[in-house]
Amino acid sequence: MFIKVENLTKSYKTGEVTTTVLKGVAMELHKGEIGVILGPSGSGKSTLLNIIGGIDRSDSGTVIVDNIKVTKLTDDELTDYRRDFIGFIFQFYNLIPNLTVGENIEVVANISKSPFSIDEVLEAVGLLDKKNRFPKELSGGEQQRVSIARAVVKNPRLLLCDEPTGALDFASSREILKLLQNINKRFGTTILMITHNSAISGMAGQVYRVRSGEIVERIMNETIIPAERIEW
Ligand code: ADP
Ligand code: MG
Repeated sequence: MFIKVENLTKSYKTGEVTTTVLKGVAMELHKGEIGVILGPSGSGKSTLLNIIGGIDRSDSGTVIVDNIKVTKLTDDELTDYRRDFIGFIFQFYNLIPNLTVGENIEVVANISKSPFSIDEVLEAVGLLDKKNRFPKELSGGEQQRVSIARAVVKNPRLLLCDEPTGALDFASSREILKLLQNINKRFGTTILMITHNSAISGMAGQVYRVRSGEIVERIMNETIIPAERIEW
């Protein structure tokens, strides 16, 4: 199993108040699969994704990604893991505003060791002609495509997407989802994506429904819907 999560728990303490966000979550995903975590706002989706991606820590339980026991890594090892294994895509793109599109990809850590060139990934997301533009000169959908190019330039083993279409209109959302399916096919990248939109879950082989920090349903889709046919 490429991702294996077992009995994962996480609480946040704010002053006197403790909120339990993950209550013994278990899930798994095969290599090369697209998985979706589906659930309402506040159900713990981002917390789960962040722990899998090594930008947050659990209180207990295990996360194993590609035979690496992520939950046992030291802080330094976790930094290497994030840099060498993981690509992240967020709802609000997180591009650096005063750098061009090309420079936003160039600043990725260890870019010189990347298997792909900046031009290759920009070509893959259809934005080679925008290489010298600044983020604010692009539409939301285009900015998200840049952030996808930035996430895949190092050919990450796992691409984690936190509501990647949350800020986009229907047409741009479809383009982004199509691009993610293409990347999954073309590079064999395993993708785990968060959404609160159940229509999107048809594009994944596996769907975990989360509610209040617990997995309440696991759905295995026999037929995967191409993103261009998704309706909502
Ligand atoms: P989702 O992504 O499903 O909307 P999150 O994982 O972001 O849910 O958050 C789940 C719960 O944990 C929410 O109630 C949120 O307020 C709380 N939470 C998330 N991050 C923190 C934090 N750093 N400190 C305190 N509470 C947090
Ligand atoms: Mg979230």
